[in-house]
Amino acid sequence: MANHHRLTRRRLLALLGGSAGIGLAPTIRAGAAGAAVFGQTAPRQTSTTFQPGAIIRTLLKDMPPADLAGGPVLFHEHLSMHYPPQVKEHFTDDVAMMVEEVRAAGKDGIACIVDGGHPDMTRSLDALTRIATESGVAIVASGGYYMQRTYPPEIAARSADQIADDLTREAAAQRLGAFGEIGQQGGVLTDDEKKVFQAVAKAHVRTGLPVFTHNAYTGTRTTANPVPHDAALRQLDVLEAAGAKPERMAIGHICCLDDPKAEIAQQLAKRGAFVGFDRVTIPIVPDAERVVMIMAMVEAGYAGHVLLSSDFAVANSLKKNGGAGVGQAATVFGPMLLKAGLTEALLHQILVDNPRRFLAFVPK
Ligand SMILES: [Zn+2]
Repeated sequence: MANHHRLTRRRLLALLGGSAGIGLAPTIRAGAAGAAVFGQTAPRQTSTTFQPGAIIRTLLKDMPPADLAGGPVLFHEHLSMHYPPQVKEHFTDDVAMMVEEVRAAGKDGIACIVDGGHPDMTRSLDALTRIATESGVAIVASGGYYMQRTYPPEIAARSADQIADDLTREAAAQRLGAFGEIGQQGGVLTDDEKKVFQAVAKAHVRTGLPVFTHNAYTGTRTTANPVPHDAALRQLDVLEAAGAKPERMAIGHICCLDDPKAEIAQQLAKRGAFVGFDRVTIPIVPDAERVVMIMAMVEAGYAGHVLLSSDFAVANSLKKNGGAGVGQAATVFGPMLLKAGLTEALLHQILVDNPRRFLAFVPK
């Protein structure tokens, strides 16, 4: 892990809108929607506005998006899970330790973390609630199903509408703030996976909740597994055909593609979707390649579609084990983007504004 690139807490807070910074002396201004905006030398008007009544549904309470403007919002991490499902033990079972790790991420400036697990990844809502309560960092819990091999047997017999009914009911009962991560196992959606994508799109229409996906490129892309390069586009096809609004969809793991010009990413953005660079700092693909892809997106005018996260899932990344911790997408990867020439204003947009636009909805 490139520790020398890690931002100090003070520097990150200064950069992203917190109050502890001294080095940059940033000015925080309230925009039209009350959202804090980072401006170093000249006043900068925020372009981030939210519909009247829009909220971000965290486990503990519904929050106006402006209340989460003080730091990065990480849209796809894991704070509680057993994966693969048959594993008996997982490091996240130590909830007290996870509280400490998330509290430390809060000290790094992180304002909110979206957990990408759900029952078929053995995510514990009790654990997430305790982490949110004791760490002071806002946590969004998600619903849905992961992929063919994790589906409960009853999925096969239920229709997309029936699954959508279940998801809608669960979302209300459990204060879920998103559907995700919704995945596929191979290069092409199985019939059940297609049905689950349709169901999630329908549940999104009924609830207003956003959706984030897991596409097929997740392991080493040098394996012989022939995955169609356009699997991510086909996911958006299915979601849209079932009624989903692309601007509330985040197609995930695009940073794992071998796509240096970010062509798939740009096609997704052109259709209105968010693009998940949500495995940064995880050594599947060199981070330098992801930086190039993101700079290509920015160059093409799509900075407003980029979402960053790290899919936090391995014990080596824990601070107690010498890793960068749950905030690594911001604290380790953020500085790499600055070094590549991204402006601080755009980094703020990507880490603070884009995820709030993704998560905010007007409850129905
Ligand atoms: Zn994940």
